[in-house]
Amino acid sequence: MKKAINRYQCGNYQKNDTEFDSLTGLYHKAAFFRKAQERVKQSCGFCLVAIDIGHFKLYNKWYGREQGDRFLEGLGAFLKEESDQRGLLCGYMGGDDFAVLLPDDGISVHKLAQNVTDYTGKHGNRGMLAVFGICSIKDPDIEIPAYYDCALLAQSQARGNYACRISWYEEAMLHGMEEEQQLLGEILEAFEKNEFIVYAQPQCNIVTGKIVGLEALVRWKHPEKGIVGPSVFIPLLEKHGLITALDVCVWEKVCAGIRAWIDEGRRPVPVSVNLSRHDIYAMDVVAMFNDLVRRYRLDPSLIEIEITEGTYVQDYEKIIKVVDELHRSGFMVWMDDFGTGYSSLNMLKNVSIDVLKLDMKLLSLDIRSARKGMSILEAVVRMASGLGMKMIAEGVETREQAELLLDIGCLYAQGFYFYYPEGEEELRHILSGEERIDYRGILAKPIQLLDVTGLTGRDAGCELFLNHVLGGIAVYDMYEGRLELKEVNTQYYRITKEDPVDLEEHRKDPADSVYEPDRGKFSGLFVRAEQEPEGAVGRLRWLCADGSILRVLFRVYFAGEYEGHKVFYGMIKETRPRSLLFCRSSERSRSEGRKELP
Ligand code: C2E
Ligand code: MG
Ligand code: MG
Repeated sequence: MKKAINRYQCGNYQKNDTEFDSLTGLYHKAAFFRKAQERVKQSCGFCLVAIDIGHFKLYNKWYGREQGDRFLEGLGAFLKEESDQRGLLCGYMGGDDFAVLLPDDGISVHKLAQNVTDYTGKHGNRGMLAVFGICSIKDPDIEIPAYYDCALLAQSQARGNYACRISWYEEAMLHGMEEEQQLLGEILEAFEKNEFIVYAQPQCNIVTGKIVGLEALVRWKHPEKGIVGPSVFIPLLEKHGLITALDVCVWEKVCAGIRAWIDEGRRPVPVSVNLSRHDIYAMDVVAMFNDLVRRYRLDPSLIEIEITEGTYVQDYEKIIKVVDELHRSGFMVWMDDFGTGYSSLNMLKNVSIDVLKLDMKLLSLDIRSARKGMSILEAVVRMASGLGMKMIAEGVETREQAELLLDIGCLYAQGFYFYYPEGEEELRHILSGEERIDYRGILAKPIQLLDVTGLTGRDAGCELFLNHVLGGIAVYDMYEGRLELKEVNTQYYRITKEDPVDLEEHRKDPADSVYEPDRGKFSGLFVRAEQEPEGAVGRLRWLCADGSILRVLFRVYFAGEYEGHKVFYGMIKETRPRSLLFCRSSERSRSEGRKELP
């Protein structure tokens, strides 16, 4: 308290000829402080209340300034009446702020709060909930503005709390504010000393485990505390409007890093960077990114911009424009943290997003009991692909989550299961193994996904179930003797461990998936299937993406012929249980080359 008080010198406020505010009829700020000071010197047992009218700005926006003024005028008259009847002292502090000096008896404050709340509800609108910060006046010699500051601090604690709109000042609040100020000072110093560094976390293809991109994540390399995560400093920088400087610094480091990588003769992978919602107001984001790629001579497709879902909702109109301009400049735009609470599926159809980043919280569903959650996930993946968006899940920590994602058709993931965010040295090591990277990236086209519910005419909700029951299914088209793979279901690539992007690329040579000595047998099954209503079945050795060989039972059915195109269904089942998808390095013994025949 003493520190807050010291900030106020005597005579900080001056006597003004007109003591009353013309709109509200109450004492204006300086007069209120003066009158309150006189009163606390005459007798003790007072407290000071700072009142703020929640959502008043919105009220002004909806109903016009004129009506806003009428509301303030009415509230002023109401408070004046209260003060006349109950001996209070009321002041108008500007904007939508009022102050009241009243007896610190535990009753008066609550009565005042109730009356003001009733008044705003009745004469304003129901969204306008007043919020009250209160400070007891212990020492009449302390300047009233210092008490008012403390009441404001208390008020700020109650602002986001809709259950309790009254907050009393406590000494700890000031400590909290002081600590915040100190941390802010340290952060600014760290900024000057260039202590912010960029970590990056790989983004992977779930089937192959190969890296398709990186996400840049800022870290503070603290001289004593070591590596400090962004949750410590980003909220504070955002609060104080300083996040943009940090973001620009991160983007610059990312571009410089990619340029250095290219100059070493290496092939770069795309890097996604985070954009704070404050950035779109603080600067011309598009001009900034254009300038960066020009200065570092980079293809804009190497930079992907992650914008959180909340930003799309809260700053909708502004963001639509920014996204369009970023696209026109050749940058990819991602929606980060999809599913964290603001989700509006309707909004998705209006924004042109390249990649939807599903938040880990949606994945933390209890797999056994969350059938509904699964259906939602499935629907989101289906919708994203219907809207031409790619999908990646973030925060994938377990093999079960990765399997689940593949089941519902999400091919990409980022999370501790694959890699942790790493610093430069470790990243260099990871990226030096070219076989760990899939340069086709997240935007590569995968094979068309077969809708098994379409085959059976069942509801979408049971797709997962059907996929498991039916096993791996592939649809083939034979035209003029040439066999082509058209579509597969999710179980197909889970069983074969074939990468859906590879499958798309080798669609026209489906026999390539079969171990060479068995390819004749594979083709023969299609010839036999055409003659046998029961289909043709055979044991084959399948080549998997990781080089291993899988023994399968492959059954082919002839579905019919249309304008020279013969359609076949292939059903694949493993004859021996085995691991189904990419395993992280600790769990697997992944040989670099093709494995020997079992
Ligand atoms: P984000 O953009 O959603 O980044 C993903 C966060 O999830 C990262 O946290 C990452 O370390 C963490 N993560 C990754 N895999 C897993 C996992 O398997 N499990 C769990 N529990 N967490 C995982 P981090 O690095 O602490 O960053 C937190 C947030 O801070 C980021 O969330 C992003 O919103 C923000 N951020 C990070 N760097 C920057 C930056 O340079 N600028 C801005 N504006 N924001 C940044
Ligand atoms: Mg992100
Ligand atoms: Mg995220």
